[in-house]
Amino acid sequence: LAQLFRPLDMLGMVYREIRQGLIDMEAMFRLIDTPPEVTDAADAKPLVVLGGTVRFEHVDFRYDKDRPILHGIDLTVPAGHTLAVVGPSGAGKSTLARLLYRFYDPSEGRITIDGQDISAVSQATLRRSIGIVPQDTVLFNDTIGYNIGYGRDGSTQDEIVAAAKGAAIHDFIMGLPQGYDTPVGERGLKLSGGEKQRVAIARTLLKNPPILILDEATSALDSRTEADIQATLARVSARRTTIVVAHRLSTVVDADEIAVVEAGRVVERGTHARLLAKDGLYAEMWRRQQAERETALEAA
Ligand code: ATP
Repeated sequence: LAQLFRPLDMLGMVYREIRQGLIDMEAMFRLIDTPPEVTDAADAKPLVVLGGTVRFEHVDFRYDKDRPILHGIDLTVPAGHTLAVVGPSGAGKSTLARLLYRFYDPSEGRITIDGQDISAVSQATLRRSIGIVPQDTVLFNDTIGYNIGYGRDGSTQDEIVAAAKGAAIHDFIMGLPQGYDTPVGERGLKLSGGEKQRVAIARTLLKNPPILILDEATSALDSRTEADIQATLARVSARRTTIVVAHRLSTVVDADEIAVVEAGRVVERGTHARLLAKDGLYAEMWRRQQAERETALEAA
């Protein structure tokens, strides 16, 4: 009987390998997924980042021609400042981030970095200048060290360790059976949501970009992990121009400016205190989340 099952076992293993291979390929394609319409201009110049001021100037955008998503977006993030983008689900927050990374070009208007239209510079220099900490980090079936080093080609072990320390994941890694050589991903150690985010932060530290996009996870981490991650992100975003796509208002209180997006338009802008005083959509969202938080605390 064992002889009968061994080939089946083998087949299962091969199948899993192939499936895993495909998943990795998908992950790769998601990462490098650039729609064909986004191409370098023939005379594309390298992006020269001085301070890293980001501007959206009258930006309209639609994925499909008959469904406009963003309308007349005007936003400025001064060099080194943090802009938090909040608003209801589907409002267009992540789309703003995708446009800045130039996954798509605006239908109208333009986006500039230090005065240079991002559609006129080479994509390679644009993407080198922007770090993304995504909602969900893709881990390769490789060691945790490799997964961090992926942030920048040719990084040394010392640099990987320094980045892990900056992302507050070094101690966790040192506690693993094989340290930095511990396999992670589907075929290795499964990391928690918070640990995966730290890997993404470490990758970003290695890349050391002047501009940062943080796409906050929708799925809630437990509140202590969340507070720890927030503290780490605050350190990483200091002195960098940062755009945070935020789902929880607790994370935006300290932003230099908050833009409230609703149905593809910026409907309110200001600091947390000013927006609360304004008693509009932001104040309403804030009250609702506070109430949800209290209910959750009472239930716990
Ligand atoms: P959430 O808070 O739920 O993440 P969001 O504010 O980030 O939402 P976006 O992801 O920017 O919203 O999406 C804005 C709108 O664009 C939504 O109606 C969505 O369905 C649509 N959309 C997003 N991606 C695409 C795409 N690739 N093709 C077509 N429509 C899309």
